[in-house]
Amino acid sequence: MAIQTFTSKITKKVFLNDDVFVMTLSCPKEFTFKAGQFVTIRVKNGEESKMRSYSILNPPSEKGKVDLCIKIIEGGFASECFKTIKEDDEYEMKGPFGHFMFDETSENKEHWLISNGTGVVPMYSMLKEFLPQNSDIKFTMLFGSKVKKDLIFHEEFLELAEKYPQFTYTPSITREEWDGKKGRVQAHLPEDVKNKTFYICGLKELVVETKDILIEKGVDAKNIKFERYS
Ligand SMILES: Cc1cc2nc3c(=O)[nH]c(=O)nc-3n(C[C@H](O)[C@H](O)[C@H](O)COP(=O)(O)OP(=O)(O)OC[C@H]3O[C@@H](n4cnc5c(N)ncnc54)[C@H](O)[C@@H]3O)c2cc1C
Repeated sequence: MAIQTFTSKITKKVFLNDDVFVMTLSCPKEFTFKAGQFVTIRVKNGEESKMRSYSILNPPSEKGKVDLCIKIIEGGFASECFKTIKEDDEYEMKGPFGHFMFDETSENKEHWLISNGTGVVPMYSMLKEFLPQNSDIKFTMLFGSKVKKDLIFHEEFLELAEKYPQFTYTPSITREEWDGKKGRVQAHLPEDVKNKTFYICGLKELVVETKDILIEKGVDAKNIKFERYS
């Protein structure tokens, strides 16, 4: 897929909670990508500018826009700039990049998506793209968070699980009482890992630990796909 560089304008910005927002950006009609891929944007603060990577939230079938879902990290270079962004602001955008995508060549019929925080963004795009097309493939999503309010897209995932019987949504909370699953996502990995493909996305700790557990359980490296945000 050809990498393109273009100027992109913010057409919408919505906060999902205190520190996570979704911004919709324009892109050329011919911009295409695969679910799970990311773009880079140049974030400017005065004379200084830095490139930052963000997974694409919308599925490729929703053409003509790029939705990004971003967590504001206190003191972070880009994060501080995002606090004041507004509609019509422009970015230099480049992409698509990355190999973290649904393995369409796999013979496995069970795919496990494991993430926390904004690591769920590429999973969202993959589910939106592939659930309607694959009724014979089972998707299970393990989504971890400290508290329930940080389970972004929780309602959408519940709705997807209701609509598509082949999709199981398993959120898990570590620091709050609730009536769902508790503990780290790794505690809910399957015992039997045969004929399954695993996708992991998030910060280094989640990715490294989950990969190690899966390898220990005997998963072949080719059946572990991952994207690290840090
Ligand atoms: C391939 C790829 C895709 C990414 N996709 C997303 C995305 O969809 N949404 C998103 O919010 N971020 C995403 N990131 C992280 C993003 O690129 C930036 O690192 C993040 O926005 C912090 O940038 P900053 O300039 O504000 O902070 P910096 O000054 O660069 O760093 C601040 C600190 O924040 C930590 N950090 C980085 N990302 C996160 C995060 N998501 N949650 C908690 N802590 C974090 C870093 O480890 C670092 O210690 C992605 C990173 C990569 C490599």
